Amino acid sequence: MQTFDRATLLRDLKSYLTFLRSYGYTDIPLESNSSLNADSRNTDEVHPLNESTQPQSAMTKQTPAKKSTVPTLENIRTELGDCTRCKLSSGRKTIVFGSGNPRADLVFVGEGPGKDEDEQGFPFVGRAGKKLTEIIEKGMNLHREQDTYICNIVKCRPPGNRDPKEEEISACKPFLVKQLQAIRPLAIVALGKPAASTLLGRSVPITKERGTWHEFEGIPLMLTFHPAYLLRFYTLENRRAVMDDMNKVLKKMKG
Ligand code: SF4
Repeated sequence: MQTFDRATLLRDLKSYLTFLRSYGYTDIPLESNSSLNADSRNTDEVHPLNESTQPQSAMTKQTPAKKSTVPTLENIRTELGDCTRCKLSSGRKTIVFGSGNPRADLVFVGEGPGKDEDEQGFPFVGRAGKKLTEIIEKGMNLHREQDTYICNIVKCRPPGNRDPKEEEISACKPFLVKQLQAIRPLAIVALGKPAASTLLGRSVPITKERGTWHEFEGIPLMLTFHPAYLLRFYTLENRRAVMDDMNKVLKKMKG
């Protein structure tokens, strides 16, 4: 039988409660005779939602609690609706809003959904997505769904996987900005030139600027290669470059 240690169970419970909170739940009823009263609690036990009593691990968010005026990801998704703000709406099957932990310390921003993402409704689920998951889980020793949030600069698939056009990026960017403001991670990673250029508001030569730190609204922003580029040019040099970039991100997050 599979067993779980206490730390793993607490982490999973915190992740689930955080997910519920992002959807507007504020209370979970408990039976009055619950054995979980204050006296019976271990002194080192922490409530998964009570961040003031939570030990500050290296990966714990250091930023203050979000103000209620900042819309939640759910609010932003509702505002986006069945969006027809740009022409990409006409060819999409699904809007790929984003996935992961709404309170993640690390956000990856890619370019746009491909065929697999358009069909499944989640970002980075195709071949490049598997590579990104490998980078996160094997390379960075993080959990993709619990420790990160992943989204794109456009939320609908460009036909034939072409680059998104400027007017399409402009139409969709406000929602990306709101997502980043809602999550307010410790670090953002822009995957590839379109994401880097969108977040920095200028044309970024990614081969020259990857591995360098920038800022997006005060949040440290690292530029690196898109996993699809890495798969296309799968050299030792490129793989090392991406891992160097991710090591810089981990170091920054640990302060
Ligand atoms: Fe709307 Fe963005 Fe899709 Fe364009 S890409 S239709 S702005 S959700």
